[in-house]
Amino acid sequence: MRVLILGGTAEARALAQALTDRAVAVVSSLAGRVSTPRLPAGEVRIGGFGGIDGLAELISTDSITHVVDATHPYATTMSAHGVAAADRAGVPFVRYARPGWRSHALAGGWTWVSSYAEAQIAADRLGSRPFITTGRQTLTHYLDGWWDRRALVRVVEPLGEQAPSAWTVVLDRGPYEVDAELSLMSRHGVNVLLTKDSGGSYTAAKLTAADRLSIPVVVVRRPDTPTGAREVSTLDDVLATLLH
Ligand code: NAP
Repeated sequence: MRVLILGGTAEARALAQALTDRAVAVVSSLAGRVSTPRLPAGEVRIGGFGGIDGLAELISTDSITHVVDATHPYATTMSAHGVAAADRAGVPFVRYARPGWRSHALAGGWTWVSSYAEAQIAADRLGSRPFITTGRQTLTHYLDGWWDRRALVRVVEPLGEQAPSAWTVVLDRGPYEVDAELSLMSRHGVNVLLTKDSGGSYTAAKLTAADRLSIPVVVVRRPDTPTGAREVSTLDDVLATLLH
C-alpha cells in the first residue's frame, strides 16, 4: 500500500500519523499556500500537480495504490481533480471530510447563505463591524462593499499591500479557545461574525463566543461534495475503508 493524502487539514495530518503508526506508506500533498505549514508524518510533497493529468500521472509514476481526499470542505477544485485522476489511474478514492456545523447546538440561530456575496449582504443587515473568518481567498468578495469598513479579518498569512487600511488583520491559526475568542471579539468591538461551515472543533470556539456576546453569525453553506465519491467523516471509518 502507498496512500496519497490530499491534505492541508488537521484531519489529513491525523490520518497520516495513524497510517504511519501502522507502517503504511503515505505521501501527503500540500498546496503550498502557507509559508510555514504544519507538516504531517511520513513523506510530504508541496505544490499543485498540474491539474487532473498531472495528478493521474503522479499516481502512476509514484506507485500510489489509494487516494484519500482529506482537503478542506471548501477546496472543491482539488476534490474534483482527485476523483477524476484516481478514476483515470484506476485506484480507489475516498473523501474524508469532518462533519459540518449543521447539527451544532447553535446552528438554528445562524443566518445560512449560499455565497460570500450573500454573506456580505446578510452581515450588512445584522451589524456594522464584521469579523471575517472565511479565509484569505474569500476576501476579494468583500473588497468593493467593505473597503472603508472597520472590519476585523483573521487569516493565516499576511495580506498584500492591497488590503484596505480600514481593516484590522490578525494573523493566527487554530485551534482556538473560547476565552481568547471572547477577548478578541470584545476588544475589537465586532458585532457580526462571518464564517463558512468548516465543521469540527478546531475553529468552533468563535461560535460559542459569538453566542455569549449575542453577536449574530452568518454561515456560508458548504459546496457539494464531488459526485461519485465515497465519503466518510471519521478517522476510524477512513482507516477501516483503507485497511479492510
Ligand atoms: P482548491 O481551490 O480546491 O485547489 C486549487 C488548486 O490548488 C488545485 O487545482 C491544485 O492545483 C492545488 N491544490 C489544492 N490543494 C492541494 C493539495 N492538497 N495538494 C496539491 N495541490 C493542491 O484548493 P484551496 O481551497 O485553495 O485549498 C488549498 C489547500 O488549502 C488545500 O490543501 C486545503 O485542504 C487547504 N485549506 C483550504 C481551506 C479553504 O477554505 N479552502 C481552508 C483550510 C485549508 P493543480 O490543479 O495544479 O493540481
